[in-house]
Amino acid sequence: VSGFGVEHLPYGAILPLGGWTDADAAAAGVAEHLGGRPVLSTRLGSDAVLLPLLVAAGLLGDDPDLAAALLAPTLNPLIELGAPAWRELRARLQDVLPDGADHARARVPLGRCAQVVPMRITDYVDFYASLEHVENFGRIFRPGKPAVQDNWRHLPVAYHGRASTVIVSNTPVRRPSGMLGPGVFGPTQALDIECEVGFVCGPGVVGPIPIDEADDRLFGVALVNDWSARDMQFFEFQPLGPFLGKSFATGMSAWVTPLEALAGARVPPRPQDPEPADYLRARSPWSLDLSLEISINGQTVSRPNASTLYWTPSQMLAHMTVNGATLSTGDLFATGTVSGPEPGSLAELWEGQRWLADGDEVVLRGRAADVELGEARGTVQPG
Ligand code: MN
Repeated sequence: VSGFGVEHLPYGAILPLGGWTDADAAAAGVAEHLGGRPVLSTRLGSDAVLLPLLVAAGLLGDDPDLAAALLAPTLNPLIELGAPAWRELRARLQDVLPDGADHARARVPLGRCAQVVPMRITDYVDFYASLEHVENFGRIFRPGKPAVQDNWRHLPVAYHGRASTVIVSNTPVRRPSGMLGPGVFGPTQALDIECEVGFVCGPGVVGPIPIDEADDRLFGVALVNDWSARDMQFFEFQPLGPFLGKSFATGMSAWVTPLEALAGARVPPRPQDPEPADYLRARSPWSLDLSLEISINGQTVSRPNASTLYWTPSQMLAHMTVNGATLSTGDLFATGTVSGPEPGSLAELWEGQRWLADGDEVVLRGRAADVELGEARGTVQPG
């Protein structure tokens, strides 16, 4: 499958599905690692490659810390080892995986796997980094008022989301109920999505993180769908920001693409005016040229690109820790809706005139040259 070759090698955590018998597990040599626990994997073509089996076969070297990390049910212990260990593991995988005979037993077709959120997320932050998204929302929902607030060009605006309701791709989304206006309680009548790029953070550390250290503090990239109930959101959010209109579900792709796999996607960020504060100025600033796609019921409705974002990932990481806030291993932050010439939300696409219906299936996809990001898929269930 194009886009999932050895130049990519994303990480995930899989659960073998029905179809996988105890005998299969024993034959594959993983019986002792299963027992209902997720198994760390990378993806090659349309197979998951079970990392504990590569360890057991002696293909990943003899570092006991790395071996222990790869036997864990989440990516957190691997992330905790730090950027040099990530680079070492990736280099080893790129070395051994092209020789199919060595690892045939470690491969499981994706059709026989379920996937889970691959890391334990302590904190989740959602930014608001797209200028076009801010402008579009202002025009549609606050006509006659300035779309871009006075602070917006001086710092990357964000809010803390709900880490425990981050859900993995393929998890259904139940239409949430809440207050939709004065005295009105019920299922949202304005269910929307936000097409976003998420960043999985590196080892835990007490902030601030200097902006030029961001590269070693970002483990990888995932697609994020920030499901949003706009009626709940617009009624509740003043003056403290999003709450129940966002916290019922945040989708993420099952696969996390190492930042290293996206080296070829780095492009200069768009100009910023005014010049940001010192802590937001990188020596070598970068943005990611990621072509994104929103598909509804099999039809592509928009194709935003992450290179149009105003604030960069490094600026977001530096900003969210500049006050001394702690970063926890595997924390997730997302860019906010990616809108440019094409929008990243249905509110913008349909101008507030239409929303998601029960049964609608939304798929977010992303690609950087030869690297295909894992998709973020979800179907709306009645409330
Ligand atoms: Mn969002």
